[in-house]
Amino acid sequence: MHKADIEKVKKQIDRGSEKGSKTYQFNDNHDERKPAQWWFQHSPEGTVLFVVFYSMACRWSQCLGCNLPSQVSSRHIPFDSIMQQVDYIFALPEVMAKKGKIHKVIISNNGSILDEDTFSSTALIYFIALLNRNFKNLEVLTIETRPEYVDIEELEFIARSLAEGERKTQLEIAIGFEAFDDTIRNDVFMKGLTIDVFEKLVERVAKYDFQLKCYFMQKPVPEMTDKQAVDDICAGIDYLSKTADKHGVKINMHLNPTYVAIGTLLEPAFNEGRFIPPKLEDVARAIYSGKGKNISIFVGLSDEGLAVDGGSFLVPGCEGIVAILEQFNQTQDYELLSQCS
Ligand code: SF4
Repeated sequence: MHKADIEKVKKQIDRGSEKGSKTYQFNDNHDERKPAQWWFQHSPEGTVLFVVFYSMACRWSQCLGCNLPSQVSSRHIPFDSIMQQVDYIFALPEVMAKKGKIHKVIISNNGSILDEDTFSSTALIYFIALLNRNFKNLEVLTIETRPEYVDIEELEFIARSLAEGERKTQLEIAIGFEAFDDTIRNDVFMKGLTIDVFEKLVERVAKYDFQLKCYFMQKPVPEMTDKQAVDDICAGIDYLSKTADKHGVKINMHLNPTYVAIGTLLEPAFNEGRFIPPKLEDVARAIYSGKGKNISIFVGLSDEGLAVDGGSFLVPGCEGIVAILEQFNQTQDYELLSQCS
């Protein structure tokens, strides 16, 4: 990338951070040959490997409760460093020990993998090549991105490459939806996502038989009551299910209970008593409305260490309900949720 283009992206990140009143620092001292984070999850698809690559931060950077850019870089990270991150993942003993058992891989850069100005296309293709070569039972590759970077020709090419693996791997596009209510999503949370843009994305994804994952947050903004938060998720479940029916597309809702992310506007709101994270009992209540609907639901149960002290939805004594929700994630068994109240 040319220096002038890098400067332009840097300015966009600075403007977004300023607009969102972010006070966090970027993680500029991280070793750029290593991914930012990686972990395993368990879902109905089986073992999932989640990798967050270390790259230049999200160009949007405005969303009210988000401090994910603080885990990555304010500098441009060149393609060869991201390729070294790919090599790092495929050299990890814990990853290679499970390589035949990994059914799904989710890749993120805490922004948009499909934004070529922040994440290298060469490194993405290199990653897919190593997936094909190593993960013989991979069923789904999930790519996190904002919808504006979804370029259908690029997806077609990625899908073709994935089809060359021993087992045909399905492509899933994961986008942040965050809140169903338009005003909360765009005017308060500052997501910059209209329903029209979302529906155009669904049409394109459905045409190519790709899958869709939509990230939602329960209680994403201050001054929202617990009941309003539950109702918003129920409305989101209903909408996604109808959308899946209408377009014949497979949709997963990934529901993250909101934590008080350091360096965001949730932090002063929490300190002033205007925001309390949602209760996991209410999360269980919200997802119960998915029973019989045409979507799957996965509850995110980690605050990734990014919450202020006392600002997590993980509270002392919550281990029992966390275990039930983890079981729900793996089974989609709605009867388990009756034990959560
Ligand atoms: S939620 Fe996503 S799009 Fe919004 S600032 Fe965070 S990383 Fe960027």
